[in-house]
Amino acid sequence: MPELPEVETVRRTLNELVAGKTIERVRVFLPRIIQKPDDTEQFSLLLQDQTIQTVERRGKFLLFKLDDLALVSHLRMEGRYGLYGQDDPVEKHTHVIFYFTDSTELRYKDVRQFGTMHIFSKGQELLEPPLKKLGLEPLDDSFTFKLFRDAIGDRKTKIKPLLLNQEYVVGIGNIYVDESLFAAGIHPEREADSLSRSELEKLHEAIVRTLSEAVEAGGSSIKSYVNGQGEMGMFQQQLKAYGRQNEPCAVCGRPIIKTVVAGRGTHYCGHCQPLKRKRSLKQ
Ligand SMILES: [Zn+2]
Repeated sequence: MPELPEVETVRRTLNELVAGKTIERVRVFLPRIIQKPDDTEQFSLLLQDQTIQTVERRGKFLLFKLDDLALVSHLRMEGRYGLYGQDDPVEKHTHVIFYFTDSTELRYKDVRQFGTMHIFSKGQELLEPPLKKLGLEPLDDSFTFKLFRDAIGDRKTKIKPLLLNQEYVVGIGNIYVDESLFAAGIHPEREADSLSRSELEKLHEAIVRTLSEAVEAGGSSIKSYVNGQGEMGMFQQQLKAYGRQNEPCAVCGRPIIKTVVAGRGTHYCGHCQPLKRKRSLKQ
């Protein structure tokens, strides 16, 4: 599943490719992708003659800002956008096509069919599901240590599932949570309220740095991930914990352990990320 860096890469690419284009008409081949409005005819009608002003992101959601509307799109497991010419053959698993007035087409493909699209009046999208309850944006200037600590510092939940929960911090999935905890030297099963101030500071910094580096590298994925221009993500080989079970830890050389935490495959170094059972004093 794409995480924040991959979605951000798609956002930047889409913004370059489609901002300024005007939608002439829309065809929906798989109605279940369209979550709002209920009627796909209505979905198409609303988008007709709208110009894409910009493509933004909230968590793992893409936001197409149009003249009066916001189109909220979630790629889920396998969703992909691509810009095509009208003569390009329509590939398998293409579920929605946005036809532009300049004869190009933005096509949404999704092998797994889990992706979603919602339309709102502009501004309303942040007040309703699915964006309403989303937490802090880790790459935003507003993601300060204080807000991070306020959001999670007193929780008794294990740190890994807490970071995966989009109500606290958005955009971190299974790959980058393992990478961030490795970088901060924190065991994935530590309870959040057992972390000292300096551990929380390390974690805050590790999240920002890990995600920023991944965005710079163009996003990564375990499957060959392709962005809107058909370029592959290049960050995969730089992962230090995720997917590296039995390979030597980059810091101490001991083998990376794979286990299951909160139902998710989890990678960590037992030496660099010890499970301290004793609660450290909060500072
Ligand atoms: Zn280690």
